[in-house]
Amino acid sequence: MTFAVHGLPVARGIAIGRAVLVVSSRIDVAHYFIKPEEIETEIDRVRTARNAVADELIKLQANVALMGPNDAPHELSALLEVHQMLLQDEALSTGVKHWISERLYNAEWALTTQLEIIARQFDEMEDAYLRERKADLEQVVERLLHRMKGTAAVLAPSPPRRKRAAAPLDDNDDHDDPTAGDGIDVPLVLIAHDLSPADMLQFKKSVFAGFVTDVGGRTSHTAIVARSMDIPAVVGARTASQLVRQDDWVIIDGDAGVVIVDPSPIILAEYGFKQRQGDLERGRLARLRHKPAVTLDGQRVELLANIEMPEDTLGAVKAGAVGVGLFRSEFLFMGRESSTRQTRLPDEEEQYQAYKRAVEGMQGMPVTIRTIDVGADKPLDSKSANKQEHLNPALGLRAIRWSLADPAMFLTQLRAILRAAAHGEIHLLIPMLAHASEIRQTLSLIDFARTELDNRGVVHGPVKLGAMIEIPAAALTLRIFLKHFDFLSIGTNDLIQYTLAIDRADESVAHLYDPAHPAVLRLVADTIAECRRQGKGVSVCGEMAGDVAFTRLLLGLGLRSFSMHPSRILAVKQEVLRADTGKLEAWAKAVLESDDPAATMAG
Ligand code: PEP
Ligand code: MG
Repeated sequence: MTFAVHGLPVARGIAIGRAVLVVSSRIDVAHYFIKPEEIETEIDRVRTARNAVADELIKLQANVALMGPNDAPHELSALLEVHQMLLQDEALSTGVKHWISERLYNAEWALTTQLEIIARQFDEMEDAYLRERKADLEQVVERLLHRMKGTAAVLAPSPPRRKRAAAPLDDNDDHDDPTAGDGIDVPLVLIAHDLSPADMLQFKKSVFAGFVTDVGGRTSHTAIVARSMDIPAVVGARTASQLVRQDDWVIIDGDAGVVIVDPSPIILAEYGFKQRQGDLERGRLARLRHKPAVTLDGQRVELLANIEMPEDTLGAVKAGAVGVGLFRSEFLFMGRESSTRQTRLPDEEEQYQAYKRAVEGMQGMPVTIRTIDVGADKPLDSKSANKQEHLNPALGLRAIRWSLADPAMFLTQLRAILRAAAHGEIHLLIPMLAHASEIRQTLSLIDFARTELDNRGVVHGPVKLGAMIEIPAAALTLRIFLKHFDFLSIGTNDLIQYTLAIDRADESVAHLYDPAHPAVLRLVADTIAECRRQGKGVSVCGEMAGDVAFTRLLLGLGLRSFSMHPSRILAVKQEVLRADTGKLEAWAKAVLESDDPAATMAG
């Protein structure tokens, strides 16, 4: 039966594909695709773990038999027997094999996927005793996952074989049978309760045609990475991961923020048409790639790229970016603990190589590297994500506060960036500054990093220094910032969050997250104006820069440098080419002074 789930649109376009559910288990498991030649090894890992757990349960049972009834009640023995039965259950092993061999899931992912399917069957049982066996099954799977820890052989997540474009579906009847899938040669869409930004990086290799999460706001970091993947996405869809089943056919409408499950042929045809229209529009925009971004009245506008990894520079250059305006360096640091290979943070050499690759990738164009911004919805690893000790993580130890709290880590990063600056133009950008004391400490650590390199006789290069304006306090004390920095970059995602006291990752207050709020626009406008007055560079690198609804306004406010996901560059360029900044200035002033800027902009 067709039904729809509503959420927040975060990345445009239509995706049609089979659902891949990534369930969150109590044990943090890696999700990646294996290569076809690794199927046997992966099945073997599960088999070995199952045999080990079977032995473990037998031993436990033997111990129980030796104990008296006071130490080990009869129920314990019966329970262990149930665990043995569940461990050997056909549905578990057949399902796991299916996900590994047909969908190329790694063993842990296959196990948690099958656990979810069987658990849902338990949930639907009338008999309370049987329903409660779900917890036993979860324990058995957890034992298996523990056994499998450290035995993964795959070195890097690899995308499955090429997917063919979504074909109109003429057969919807096999939805209840996950084993009746048609191999991995179909588009897949990802459905999850939540995905950490680190998880998203794992999925970044265009494996999925679209994705949906239950939680998240429009500018949560998960949404940002989704946008950089340039695939249709919906976040904040609340119960989607409970309503959609593994292998269901799903349409993701990233423009409307709607997810349609089990669509009828008529709906499919309609969305297939929309999808083709979108492809045509992209084709039209692609023609602008080599056109300089100059307004009708001859104003040159700099369109820069936001990237997460050095390899993203390829897409940035392809999209016609004239530099990188924001390299979110924290993505080099995140999620390393969940991998079985690396457990430490990247050292100076590894970081230096990464920054150098980014510089080389941009072929002589400038690269703005932002120092690490972890904390809040960007935990370093799942361990810190699970820690509940900070009540308000967005107001806690995040970004520059984190760096200043760990000078050794910060100095390592600074040295690596300064060394990479010997290979090309680097702008060093500091996130989340608010206090003059933080500015002073940061600048003296940069000096210290240089001195360390000099003492070691290591080559380094000059950098332009920039500060992000993300906290209202910073936007209200620009004078202090402009004394010390060469340029400012407005991080509207956080500036909106902190101005309006709205958690950007919380879908329950997403309707109040308003980029057009007069207070937000005032802070943005004043920052641009002050930088221009003082002849300092200023850009916007939050999501607002890539949103065509704001291009004319920002141009009217005097902005000439926009940094955004490469996938947004051509659409923004189209707006720039059609704009006349002379005419926009008065209009922007009226928007700024209006009580309802959104209405004034639209009218
Ligand atoms: C911002 O806050 O606007 C920004 C660009 O930084 P991030 O989204 O990484 O917090
Ligand atoms: Mg920010």
